[in-house]
Amino acid sequence: MMGKGRAQAMGSRRAELPSRVDIAIIGGGIMGLSTAYHLSRISSLKVAVLERSYLVSGASGRNGGGLRMQWGDEGNVALMMESIEMCRGLAQELGINLWFRQGGYLFLARTEAGESRLTRNAELHHRLGAPTRLLSGAEALEIVPQLDVSDVRLAAFNPEDGVVFPWPFVWGYAGQAVSRGVTVRTHTAVDRIEGLADGLRLHLSTGERLDADRVLNATGAWSIELNRSLGIELPNHPHRHEIMSSEPLKPFLDPLVVDLATGLYFSQSTRGEIVAGITMPDEGPPATEVDLASSRRFLAHLGRALTTIMPLTAQLRVLRQWSGPYDVSPDGDAIVGPSPGLPRLYQVCGFTGHGFMMAPAVGKLLARLLAKGERHPMLERWDPARFSRGGSTRREDMIIG
Ligand SMILES: Cc1cc2nc3c(=O)[nH]c(=O)nc-3n(C[C@H](O)[C@H](O)[C@H](O)COP(=O)(O)OP(=O)(O)OC[C@H]3O[C@@H](n4cnc5c(N)ncnc54)[C@H](O)[C@@H]3O)c2cc1C
Repeated sequence: MMGKGRAQAMGSRRAELPSRVDIAIIGGGIMGLSTAYHLSRISSLKVAVLERSYLVSGASGRNGGGLRMQWGDEGNVALMMESIEMCRGLAQELGINLWFRQGGYLFLARTEAGESRLTRNAELHHRLGAPTRLLSGAEALEIVPQLDVSDVRLAAFNPEDGVVFPWPFVWGYAGQAVSRGVTVRTHTAVDRIEGLADGLRLHLSTGERLDADRVLNATGAWSIELNRSLGIELPNHPHRHEIMSSEPLKPFLDPLVVDLATGLYFSQSTRGEIVAGITMPDEGPPATEVDLASSRRFLAHLGRALTTIMPLTAQLRVLRQWSGPYDVSPDGDAIVGPSPGLPRLYQVCGFTGHGFMMAPAVGKLLARLLAKGERHPMLERWDPARFSRGGSTRREDMIIG
């Protein structure tokens, strides 16, 4: 159990709010808190984070905790190389155990298209200095002997990819941000935003108001409703993504395994549970609201795919299943920067199923933009205004889930 003092040091429903701040961050997920932490490191700006519920209530507390360099686009590979490098020292920096374990990611290709994706991407990884290795099915068995590799055409393994336990990651950023002067107020929703001559006024669910020079919308899949209330139309949409964890098993699985053909992914947590998710077929039109239901359909579909590729899991008992919201951007790129038509409101959304791993690097880039006006090339690419110009022309081919 966490002591009361420690919990309050990570933010609290009783944290006192000033009447005005330089930057108000709406949403106490990994994006909002990583940005708050980096702002507190590089500036003396007055910052407050407002979270509607408890700190790991959103996607940041519901995800698989996977971190990888194995992407198909140069910018994403470079960003994730930096994020993983930052993670190496992060437990010490944040003063909390993140359960960061670099067991690698093992991608399996069972189709010709998957094989050429892995081959093309491995060349890119080598050029950028990421240690991805292409393996035959037999070589993949040396890494995970329990796999059925009978129809695996090619595998790709990067030993520096890994997993974390998401909750302490979020708490660590919150704790350090608070200790550096950021106000983190939980159980307080932003109900409405009003324009002022010199800033924005937030109307809170507690009846309080908070004025800010600039506001960051870090509400993930809920950003759509906040934006809509301001007449800002961005094309991201929420998508329910389900996941499960099993009874704990003696540790035997080092990497996170991904089957490209089905979008199945699974890893073993430090506590021994198999944590698994999958791309669901035939999901219908894009959702307009966040839906956090769990389904038997998911368990049945996942069970078939998992037992095919890893037959011993047929004996596995499921302990928990849950879902979380992906915040899907239509061109596969995140949406970060000043809002079209309302430049005092910044966005950090649209990270689909990979915002957790990108948050260390994104928080740093965004803090530099907010505090110093520095525009990293990824921020040019993620510009929210790009959609009115037709969207990004790149298409990342390694989005899973
Ligand atoms: C099942 C699942 C598995 C995933 N696996 C991975 C993975 O392995 N690796 C990876 O990198 N990513 C993964 N992701 C994606 C990752 O979790 C997200 O991209 C990331 O957590 C997004 O962080 P965020 O801070 O933007 O959003 P969130 O964590 O959702 O935070 C937004 C916060 O805003 C709050 N909020 C909403 N509205 C308001 C309001 N009006 N006022 C105040 N607060 C408000 C919410 O309560 C919430 O806490 C996964 C996601 C899911 C759902």
